[in-house]
Amino acid sequence: MNTNGFEFDEKTAALLERLDRGGRLPHAVIIESQSEDTAAEIAVLLSMYSVCTSDGERPCGECKNCRNAKSKAHADISYAKPDKKHKSDSYSIEQVREWITDAQIKPNDADAKVYVFERADVRMSPIVQNAFLKLLEEPPRNVSFLLLCERSQRFLPTVLSRCTMIRAGGGRAIGETAAQTAAQIAEGIIAATEYPLLKSLYALKDKELAAETLAALEGILRDALVTLCGGEPTGEKELAGRLAARLTRAKLIKMIELCGSCEDNIRQNCNINLLCTQMCGELRRITWQR
Ligand SMILES: [Zn+2]
Repeated sequence: MNTNGFEFDEKTAALLERLDRGGRLPHAVIIESQSEDTAAEIAVLLSMYSVCTSDGERPCGECKNCRNAKSKAHADISYAKPDKKHKSDSYSIEQVREWITDAQIKPNDADAKVYVFERADVRMSPIVQNAFLKLLEEPPRNVSFLLLCERSQRFLPTVLSRCTMIRAGGGRAIGETAAQTAAQIAEGIIAATEYPLLKSLYALKDKELAAETLAALEGILRDALVTLCGGEPTGEKELAGRLAARLTRAKLIKMIELCGSCEDNIRQNCNINLLCTQMCGELRRITWQR
């Protein structure tokens, strides 16, 4: 994927690079970022990529489709607005029904259609997400849905498990140490005894690293979930494969949610020792419950 003309941090650029598989976008992509602007930029890049007609590296940024996509004026790229009738910043069930019908209609100018949902975690209530699920379960051909959000935990597990995740920068770039610690915790989760897990979790005592490590762990667990759903993980395949072989979809989702709530606790200056012990107990409980 050609990211020229866009300013993404290294990690985000690498993720986008790996998304470019077989020349098509996945049907559904969640773009999570603390910055709405970054998420919007990625959506523009991915929509350009989908409709670009260049034979070389896409998006070329120069063809008519690219230019229209960049200025958000492409006939096959829709930016869903909240339902005006409801006077709130949210999507309605009626809108979902319209999208389901609309998504079946062939594109006008390009080979693909893209639907962009900004602030999707806020605008899609659980009921709306549930209706939207139909589009994710039976995606029409050559249609991609881009769900932009600040916190992907707000999505239903059923939605999460069908989407490819891009977690973009904004200070959340993950360093080597955090990535290694997260991998050790993941190994600990599937270890036979409690000790390796507890030992690896105590690395979170370094508060500077704790949030970053939990974000990295969440990434590993998401990769396992994607593997389990038949998708292609964005990170280390081997570890994701072993986790996927050992854990169910429901267990992985619970663990991802646990990472999110622990990150919140760290931000609120909780007692880290206590957090490590609790997290260990909770991860073990999820792993071993029937
Ligand atoms: Zn182009």
